[in-house]
Amino acid sequence: MATAKYIFVTGGVTSSLGKGIISASLGKLLQARGFKVTIQKFDPYVNIDPGTLNPYEHGECYVTDDGAETDLDLGHYERFLNTSTSQANNITTGRIYNNVITKERKGEYLGKTVQIVPHITDEIKRNVYALGESGDYDFVITEIGGCVGDIESLPFIEAVRQVRWDVGPNNFLVIHLTLIPYLKAAKELKTKPTQHSVKQLLEAGIQPDILVCRSEHRLPMDIRKKLALFCNVHINSVIEALDADTIYDVPLLMKKEKLDERVLAKLRIPNKSEPELDQWKDFLGKLKNPSEEVRIGLVGKYVELPDAYKSIAEAFIHAGAVNECKVNIKWISSETITKENVNSILGKMDGILVAPGFGERGVEGKIEAVRFVRENNIPFFGICLGMQCAVIEFARNVLGLKKASSTELNEKTPDPVIDLMEEQKKITDKGGTMRLGAYPCELQKGSKSSAAYGKTKISERHRHRYEFNNKYLKKMEAAGLKATGINPGTGLVEVVELEDHPWFVGTQFHPELKSTVLNPHPLFVKFVRATNAYKKSKNKN
Ligand code: GLN
Repeated sequence: MATAKYIFVTGGVTSSLGKGIISASLGKLLQARGFKVTIQKFDPYVNIDPGTLNPYEHGECYVTDDGAETDLDLGHYERFLNTSTSQANNITTGRIYNNVITKERKGEYLGKTVQIVPHITDEIKRNVYALGESGDYDFVITEIGGCVGDIESLPFIEAVRQVRWDVGPNNFLVIHLTLIPYLKAAKELKTKPTQHSVKQLLEAGIQPDILVCRSEHRLPMDIRKKLALFCNVHINSVIEALDADTIYDVPLLMKKEKLDERVLAKLRIPNKSEPELDQWKDFLGKLKNPSEEVRIGLVGKYVELPDAYKSIAEAFIHAGAVNECKVNIKWISSETITKENVNSILGKMDGILVAPGFGERGVEGKIEAVRFVRENNIPFFGICLGMQCAVIEFARNVLGLKKASSTELNEKTPDPVIDLMEEQKKITDKGGTMRLGAYPCELQKGSKSSAAYGKTKISERHRHRYEFNNKYLKKMEAAGLKATGINPGTGLVEVVELEDHPWFVGTQFHPELKSTVLNPHPLFVKFVRATNAYKKSKNKN
């Protein structure tokens, strides 16, 4: 296709309807028909990026190869499409205004009053067209965060209206995701909230082409007819989106409702072939018919909000499916773990993952968890802060450096086994200043990690300030904690493994960010396998 087609996904009635999953599912269906697709998210908040947000505010911060700290929906886009995203795929109001104000200071609008229309809306559109005009994509799907009618999303909605006139109606399509609530007392599905949210879109000059209706119950024909009549759409463009058992069912549910066919028809693209979804269906088959089951404790401090560990939870789903093994995650608050109760909390688990995190809260519980699994030969996977806790625990309890710590937790520790790199010490700004994005790593031959990857040269994504302190490397290795992954350029330790343990691996990087349905992450796959083997050996004894 010569020019990219632009598809916008807006939300109505309420947030949290799953625009990210619908966008990713449509992207998947188009990709499965042989088209090149990218998905972009606009977030209407004023932060430049979500990197400085507490996970309780916004869930996990997803990191791309190019080091952008982004919305967790980008994780869904990558997991569904199996392609990488970048900074260009996540733009906030803060970034838009920052760019416009920087240009203003440079004198780029000299003599002009800088206004929301056209300057802010032009900057929004520039970010849409940057993907569309790259020549890399047939479709750019842009998800507008928040709800139609929110004050802060108005400039984005106005930009969408303008795009139609820039690119022409055959290259432009709006999908409105909305809620059809069910009133139990009346035993009725209600269309009024959707009528109102479509009216709000119409007031902004946008006629949605397709309605995707989230609902707990099937949409009967009379409800579909009513929605079509009042919202000005063809009855075939009223798409039902029922609650699904797993988000990975949604592409198939959308295919059944012919969402992709409607999109192609509206954009006047010949519908040549059926989407090729064999591998996807194979994954779903395994996911839904496990022959094994394990219990993995996820020890973290944001466990009340599983979205804070979204990519880890999804990576376990991918890895579980490959192993045809159901992974039951037990969310364990690290703050509750003490030396006295650790056995009763973790003793029943088949494996423990100690999660990433920031700050002091809950760290002592994580260290106690590591001690317990190290001493009891329970499979262990430590990610980022989880790996750092493994190093601290080893220093304290094996090397006998009782006060060993990370300088993030105790600036005055006599044994800073985890410390800031020199260049990090000068940094005072918080936003975008960690070690972020993809870095190369070389794995030691014969290590568990190189066996898992099946190669020694890898690249993985990072998001942290603190590092393994190489002053302690020799001592650690002599006592059995091996640095099996090293950054070839800087010598920074990226992976540690314990000898004489069934599976004890800590990574400074975040493997979960690269796990997709078609490419489950090898470390998660092998960890799940190790937990299953441990479970079986436990049952035997
Ligand atoms: N807080 C640690 C650091 O900054 C670990 C970060 C993480 O787990 N993502 O190095």
